[in-house]
Formats: sequence, structure tokens, C-alpha cells
Amino acid sequence: MKTAYFDNASTTAVDKRVVDKMQSCLSADGTFGNPASTTHSFGWMASEEVEWARETVAHCIGADPREIVWTSGATESNNLAIRGTVEAMGASTGRTKIITLESEHKAVIDTCSHLDDVEVVVLKPKSSGLVCLDALAKVLDEDTLLVSIMLVNNETGVIQPIQTITRLAHDIGAFVHSDLAQAVGKLPWTVDQLGIDLGSLSAHKIHGPKGIGALYVRRDRCQVAEQQHGGKHERGMRSGTLPSHQIVGMAEAYRLSKKESDSEIRRLDRIRDKIEATLAELGGVQINGERGVPHILNFTVDGVDGERLMAAMPQIAVSTGSACNSATIEPSHVLKAMGLSRQQGLSSIRVSTGRMTTEDNVMVLLDSLRHAISNLRSSA
Ligand SMILES: *Cc1c(COP(=O)(O)O)cnc(C)c1O
Repeated sequence: MKTAYFDNASTTAVDKRVVDKMQSCLSADGTFGNPASTTHSFGWMASEEVEWARETVAHCIGADPREIVWTSGATESNNLAIRGTVEAMGASTGRTKIITLESEHKAVIDTCSHLDDVEVVVLKPKSSGLVCLDALAKVLDEDTLLVSIMLVNNETGVIQPIQTITRLAHDIGAFVHSDLAQAVGKLPWTVDQLGIDLGSLSAHKIHGPKGIGALYVRRDRCQVAEQQHGGKHERGMRSGTLPSHQIVGMAEAYRLSKKESDSEIRRLDRIRDKIEATLAELGGVQINGERGVPHILNFTVDGVDGERLMAAMPQIAVSTGSACNSATIEPSHVLKAMGLSRQQGLSSIRVSTGRMTTEDNVMVLLDSLRHAISNLRSSA
């Protein structure tokens, strides 16, 4: 049976070129030292690799290398950004309000709901998935410490107007954090264009390894309080021996993604158009959310249960919500926030493409969708 992977928003295969780079930082014949060891060449060489990686990732997002804090991934970066800002700057500014969106990743929503002595305002997105700027302007006030809104939604691909959000927030002196995990290489941006103060990055969504990410922390504006105590690595913001192989892998993944992004965006755009055309032919299918990044397409198939649709095409890897929700049968909180009913939510599928997606894979997907949907509809 020909299998095809369309769950790249959940994770991606590591690019072979990234694997090679990572391997050079592991064994005795490579750069295996502790980057924090300052007394010998093993440490110096490892540190050089890590600083190359820091410059590379910083360059990809238009930041200064000193603004990159290595973490274990976007989940930790979201935690560090939100909790770290409250702890480092809540008291000194006297501000106690955080504003976020109901369609954010759980790593943002749940972090906010675990904060003490902070008022959290969770805005509902519009049915398009976009933030309602009027509603945001209404709740932004002198008491607002932080606004946390992602650039690209991982379930729908919807792109938020972060530039406008930062302008509104900065006017009133609030900081802005954005989860950027799905935005790298799929959309042109720099941290200065966005205007954000904090940004969460991950490696494994763009063909890098799992378990590594970074937090962008704007130098002249903010700092975050460390959330785990230890050796005061990363200028006191994140303790722990730097995993040099992971870090170098992330940087190589970022470098490749940046280098190849123009042609890759066009290629993935064409694939999405093709999938959309097939869905239009089938009829009774709604695309969820305003058109966003090329690699994520979320749709509702009228009268067809998402779990049954997936079971009817076992050779295709897709997802019904985000992977983080897949242990439960609750519909996606993102689709719910956009106003979809429980039934519509449970009839929705996310297809996400990546560098390894081939024309052949797309044919297998489209054939499978046609067969499975018409079979399920005729048997209903
Ligand atoms: C995958 C993802 C995360 C979690 O990132 P990890 O590196 O796996 O912790 C957070 N936010 C978004 C938008 C994601 O897509």
C-alpha cells in the first residue's frame, strides 16, 4: 500500500542534510564538547558551533544573535515568554493583564490559565479565524502587560495581522509575544517588520530535530525570568547544558528553509490549489479560515465524520485537530473558537504539506479523498 504523509504541521521528517550536520556534533571524532567548558579546545569548538547556529537562526528571522535563547521547543518558549515576562516585568510595570486569543496553541492558552494574580482576557477570533482588532483595541489598556497572538495558526494556516497588533499594543506600552512555530519559511517576515518583543520558534516543524527551539527576546525592550534554575546559561534566562547537536540541527534546518523558501512557497501553493480544486469538485466541503500559509489546509466535509474519513483512508496521514488534541475526541478548540458547531468540528480534517511532499503523494491523497468521501456519503 502506498502511504502518503500529510501531517507536516504536526511534525516533519528531518532533512538528510540536517542529520549530517547533527552527526558532526556527537561522537569522539566530532565536536562533542560542552559549549560551556571554557578550559579546553573541546569546549571552545562546541561553543563556536553553537554561536554559528545562533547567528544563523538570528539571521533567518532578522534578529541579533544576542536575542536568541535556546529552549527545548516552542512549547517551552511559549511558557518562558509568558511566565518569564510576568515574573520579570509584572511587578516593575505594575501591569497585571494578559490578552490572548481562544485559537492560540494550548501551550499559550494553558500557560495563561495557570498564572496567579494575572487577569487573562481570551478574545474570540472572527469566523475567518482572524483576531477582531476592534475587540482587541477595546480591551487593551494601561494595565495590559502582554498580548500573545500567534503569527500562523497551526490548525488552519490563518495569518494574523501582527504588525497592527504590535502597533496597538505598543501605543499603550504593552509587550507583544507571538508563537512563530508555523511561520518560518512559509511566509516572508522579520522580527522588526512584525514589531514583536518575544517570539517562539521550533525546529521540528521545518525538517529539523524535535526537542529544540528558541525564544526571541528583543534586547532593548524586555527580559524574561528563568523558569528552571541551574547554571545560568543563556544570559540567565534558561539554564541547562546546551544540546549542541540539536542546536546545530535547528540552525541548518533554518538555513535550508530560508534558502529554499521562495520556490518552496510557490510549489506548496500549487499543491494547495490542486487539493482545493478537488474538494470543490466533490462539493459540500468548506475550507476553514481565511486563506493563509500554503502548507496548511483545514476543511469540513458535510455529513462525513472526520475519524471515519481517516479510517477509510489508512494509507493517508492527516489529522482531525491538532496532534496535541488527538488523545481526546473533543473537536478542535480552534474550530470551535471560530464558531463551528461540534458536528462541523468533528467533520473536519487538516492536510499539511512539506518539503518531502511529492506530486505522487498528492495524487494518492486526492484519489483517496474522492473514494472515501463518496463511499461514506453513499453509505450514510
Ligand atoms: C508545534 C507547535 C508548537 C509546539 O512546538 P514544540 O516545539 O513541539 O514544543 C507550538 N505552537 C505551534 C503553533 C506549533 O505548531
